[in-house]
This record gives sequence, structure tokens and C-alpha cells, in this order.
Amino acid sequence: MRLEKYLTDCRLCPRECGVDRRQKTGICGVGYLPKVSNIVLHKGEEPPISGKDGAGAVFFSGCPMKCVYCQNMGFSQRGVGREIELDELIHAFKVLEQEGAYTLDLVTPTPHLPWIVEALEKLEKESFSLPVVYNTSSYEKVETLRRLEGLVDIYLADIRYTDSGYGLMYSKVPDYWESAKKAIFEMYRQVGPYREDMRKGLIIRILVLPNNVSGHERALEFVAYQLDPSVPVSLMSQYLPHFGAKRDPLIGRKITVDEYEKALEKMLELGLEGWYQTDEVERVTARGVNWRLVED
Ligand code: SF4
Repeated sequence: MRLEKYLTDCRLCPRECGVDRRQKTGICGVGYLPKVSNIVLHKGEEPPISGKDGAGAVFFSGCPMKCVYCQNMGFSQRGVGREIELDELIHAFKVLEQEGAYTLDLVTPTPHLPWIVEALEKLEKESFSLPVVYNTSSYEKVETLRRLEGLVDIYLADIRYTDSGYGLMYSKVPDYWESAKKAIFEMYRQVGPYREDMRKGLIIRILVLPNNVSGHERALEFVAYQLDPSVPVSLMSQYLPHFGAKRDPLIGRKITVDEYEKALEKMLELGLEGWYQTDEVERVTARGVNWRLVED
């Protein structure tokens, strides 16, 4: 197993707990075996991930980040899910392929990587055909990502914050932006910008948070000026103030149309392409912006 050592001295993510996962769980809440909350054909991802029939999404339990507003709180932080053996994980990947999934969408995969890599290597030998999507918060270590080279086709990488102070306040990680920047450059090095004809590459996802807590304008500038303006961006408007965010003075509300429009205008001004969510932005779509739409 390529990443076996991490199961007994886990340093897969920037938390670097160093725990022996045979004995206890790390900060992410994951123990020895892979733990899965749901395996489903998911039509709600971006068009290159979901296609027409849905992404073959595997929602893994646990997460190194502790976002107070996480919409997946049940399985990301509260332990919902079932531990499975390697054979069952491989079987699940195969079933998704047989059911016509457009991609294999691995959601928050980092703590489970030793098993995922083992499963993908075994499947490669059996001509598994789905593009593999690594769906991540970008709170990743470069060293870990390097070990995925050649196994991942599409990196779907969030930029959650461009101010690590907010990362600490709302996701309880001390070094979000420093870690995420390095991780995104590594993902880009491996696969380049997303290209539809190759069904391969990097897509950046930005969830706009109220009061510019996400630092989304800076994130868009990062893509345009430091990364590569041909990397497509998925600009998301769907934030809801769940759980611990409910009474927060900064993020205790939905974003306004104005906030989202301004983010879109910035994206346009920078010449970036990608996808945006249309339900709240009819006026903006009427301007004839030539971007593809999120249709789900
Ligand atoms: S993946 Fe989990 S156990 Fe491993 S270093 Fe990160 S938080 Fe700790």
C-alpha cells in the first residue's frame, strides 16, 4: 500500500496529528478504515463533474477542517457514516461506473487516501474508465498531493478564505491560506487548467460568504494573476448560515444579491471563465456574460 505508513503515523493533511489510527482517530475524526456516509449519483456538481447523469459521488466521513457552517455537519464532524473494507470501496467505485456515473467524485477524501489510492491502483489494472475527481477544501499538504500524481484527473479545489484569520475563526485551522495556495499550485502542476476535451485539469470553487469573509475578490485575483486565468472558476452563491454560524455577526445571514453580483463583476473584469449559480442573479445573466451555467 503506497500510503500505508500514514495509518500508523498520520501526517496526511496540514494538521499532522501523528496519531496511530489503529488506536485512535485524528482531529479529522477518522480511524483506521475508510468511513463513508453516502454513495450516490449526484447531479448537483458543476457540469464537468456531474455531466447529464450525475457524478458518482462518494461522501467520506470526517474532515480536517471544522467549518462552523458546514452543510455536511452530520458526516463531516459528527461521525455519521459506516466503516468499510477495501473490497467494498472498490466494489462501490465499480458500481458507480456501471450505473453510468460521469465521474468518480471523491468528496473530502484526504484522511482516507491510503485506501483510496490502493483501490484506484487495483481498478486501474481492471481498466476503470471514470475520470477521478479530487473534491477538496484545498487544506492539503503538497507532499500528500504529490503521491496522487497520475491517479487524479480533475482537482475540484475550494478557495474558502484568503485571510487565514477567518480560517481560524470559522474553520479552526491556523494556516488555511498559506497551505491552500501551495496545494493549489501543486494541483495545477499535475493537471493544468481544466479542459473539457481531455476531461482533466484544475477547477477552482469559491463559495461567496457574507461580508467578504471568503475574501473572494482576492481569490479571483489570485487565479487571474498568480495561477492561470484559464483555470475555470465555479462561483457559488448557496451559502446558508447553518449551525454555529446562525448568530454570528459576520456570517449569520445569507449573502445578498448585491454581494454576489459584485463577485461576478469581478470575475468578468478579470476575464475569468467558469460557472455561476443563476437563481439569484437574473439581472447579471441578462447582460450576456458568456459563461456556462450551473443548471442544477
Ligand atoms: S488526516 Fe486526520 S489524522 Fe491525519 S493528519 Fe489530518 S487530521 Fe490528523
